[in-house]
Amino acid sequence: MGKVRRLSLDDLGIPLTDESESRAEKLLEAAEDVAPNTVGDGPDRGAAVLTAGGAIYAAARIETPDQRQTSHELELAVKTALSDGAGSIIEGTVVSEEEPVSVCGDCRELVAAFGTGDTLIRGVVNSEEVFAATVGELLPDEQSCRTK
Ligand SMILES: [Zn+2]
Repeated sequence: MGKVRRLSLDDLGIPLTDESESRAEKLLEAAEDVAPNTVGDGPDRGAAVLTAGGAIYAAARIETPDQRQTSHELELAVKTALSDGAGSIIEGTVVSEEEPVSVCGDCRELVAAFGTGDTLIRGVVNSEEVFAATVGELLPDEQSCRTK
């Protein structure tokens, strides 16, 4: 299936009044763009992260046949950003073409390690947002551990 790119007001050069809405839209678009590149038998899954420097990095899930070296989409997006020299992660979106969409414990810890307690993660299934939570909410103990 080819990549379908939806045009947003932003793409057309029409400024959005709500900056956070524009960010969420760009992250969703980036994650949906790469989701069809998913490797493996599962549903298409993608993730995109926004860095403190304003750059967006996106990645698809890569499953190995034996699952032992499977890389989650959010993990890959965060690590791609880091390997490009990006600073902290301030927002992220995870998409799946079907339920469930979730963020595993390892990915939560990864985002907590390279984000802030306010880093917002959204989960979207078929363009429908199913959750939005900060890392502090997803992993409260991690934040309290880090401040010790
Ligand atoms: Zn994960």
